[in-house]
Amino acid sequence: MLRLSEIHTSYGHIKALKGIDIEVMKGEIVCLIGSNGAGKSTALMTISGVLKPDCGKIEFNGQQIEGMDPHEIVGLGLSQVPEGRRIFPRLSVLENLEMGAFMNNSGLKEKIKHIFSLFPVLHERSNQPSGTLSGGEQQMLAIGRSLMANPKMLLLDEPSLGLAPIMVSKIFKTIKELNIEGCTILLVEQNARAALRLAHRAYVLESGIVKLHGTGEELLHNEGVRKAYLGE
Ligand code: ATP
Repeated sequence: MLRLSEIHTSYGHIKALKGIDIEVMKGEIVCLIGSNGAGKSTALMTISGVLKPDCGKIEFNGQQIEGMDPHEIVGLGLSQVPEGRRIFPRLSVLENLEMGAFMNNSGLKEKIKHIFSLFPVLHERSNQPSGTLSGGEQQMLAIGRSLMANPKMLLLDEPSLGLAPIMVSKIFKTIKELNIEGCTILLVEQNARAALRLAHRAYVLESGIVKLHGTGEELLHNEGVRKAYLGE
């Protein structure tokens, strides 16, 4: 469904991605793990069109998307939930969800109903300014807002960052549910153990290159991964 071939991305003279190849099949949950600065967020932003790669190819559903604008990529069914949530704090929960449907507001009521069934707490808070939600609730809202665009594939950047353990479990459970409903997922996570347990396959990024890839299970048992990312 998604294929990155030899992608290079830079910030000025800083080369953040140095030729990465990543593939995500329809129906998969694929995870990117790696230390701070490895290039994980850069990879997601390059896929979603926020950053333009220096060279390389990105195909989504058979269509070349590198160089397209972010809104065109969302229109093709590829949505990103950015790190740090980026919700509109003064708008209510409901208004934030409506903003997520700006590309296509057909079936708005049904979509909102579906999101409230995934996250009942958002229903209870639907008229509350979203800046007053807890961190976990804001993360749910950010995921909900991305779902309003009817994505075939979701890019999630550190959804568990800064959340209490119970909220982390809820977010991971929701990612699994979304995947079972048919959404393909590419996930960036610091919480490597939970992510590898959830993912069908994973890639380890180090200093802008793919160091290793395999099934979640294989990487959970890989000695290098255990030492570097699982604290063993
Ligand atoms: P983290 O888990 O800390 O978010 P990451 O794996 O997502 O790390 P990136 O944020 O993709 O890593 O950063 C990759 C490299 O690019 C790092 O060396 C970082 O310092 C650099 N970088 C990221 N954003 C910028 C920027 N706006 N300007 C210059 N360099 C940047």
